[in-house]
Amino acid sequence: MTEMKPLLSVQDITKAFPFPRDLLQRLRRQPGQAVHALNGVTLDIRRGETLGIVGESGCGKSTLARCLVRLHDCDSGRVLFGDTDIATLSGAARRAFNAKVQMIFQDPYSSLNPRMRVRQILTEALSVHRMRPAAEIPARIAELLDLVRLPMDAADKYPHEFSGGQRQRIGIARALAVEPQVLVADELVSALDVSVQAQVVNLLLALQDQLHLTVVFVAHDLRLVRHISHRVAVMYLGKVVEVGPTEALFSAPLHPYTQALLAAAPEIDPARRSRRVAAKGELPSPVNLPQGCLFNTRCPLAFERCFKERPALPASGDHRAACHLTQAEKE
Ligand code: SF4
Repeated sequence: MTEMKPLLSVQDITKAFPFPRDLLQRLRRQPGQAVHALNGVTLDIRRGETLGIVGESGCGKSTLARCLVRLHDCDSGRVLFGDTDIATLSGAARRAFNAKVQMIFQDPYSSLNPRMRVRQILTEALSVHRMRPAAEIPARIAELLDLVRLPMDAADKYPHEFSGGQRQRIGIARALAVEPQVLVADELVSALDVSVQAQVVNLLLALQDQLHLTVVFVAHDLRLVRHISHRVAVMYLGKVVEVGPTEALFSAPLHPYTQALLAAAPEIDPARRSRRVAAKGELPSPVNLPQGCLFNTRCPLAFERCFKERPALPASGDHRAACHLTQAEKE
């Protein structure tokens, strides 16, 4: 995919979730603690691509997804949609942004109102954003059901009458109702059986092609991410540590953390398993971040500089990693 102006540009964003201070901390006037979920994420999302975002549980990928659709406001840095800082949007402009960048939620069981038939769920989405005059809504509902490959009689059923995979299709239809440019799918299929996962992911691939969508696919399942993504960003402790074209990243990972992640998933590429490093120990607490490189407590290749200086993700290049070692090798 050629370099072009990004559709969404994430620029050095941070997000922390403070704990309430306990009585002793208040009496001593001590600052409260916080979970540092995002610690300077910089990432471009290109028009028409599927960008996979991977990392262990707690690495900040869901927080990042929520910042992209402004379900969270970031503490510092900014997210640009085209040239517009999304934090500046309000009123009609914010509603227009919300329609253009839609999130599909992980849990199809809780994201649909159980008391509404599918027809009402889709009518509500079409009406809130005034997508169609009332007279055209029945035809649009038929189109949406066809797009997600559900039968027409699905419109008159309640969510509990569907399987998990079908409910996720209804969630996708609801997102498509407002004609988005970007779909942010956070662990879209992780609650589904493996056989159903493939069907929903293949549907998403077909829709992306048919409707020229940009997709941000957040998942911990590396095989799925490899299958669906043009590019992949790897996150660790609230930072993007590596980004690159999917096959380059999976076949020649640059960052020791990506190498460890792939080594822990031998089904990805068994022949290369022994050549990759394994991460030591546990993920550090996002409350007390390590000094220097965030991966230095687990990195088998760490050296002196890694404990003093946090490596930045290089600003240019198709395949990049935030690591002193890989950057030194390139110089
Ligand atoms: Fe390991 Fe150092 Fe690279 Fe961090 S900067 S990943 S500690 S070698």
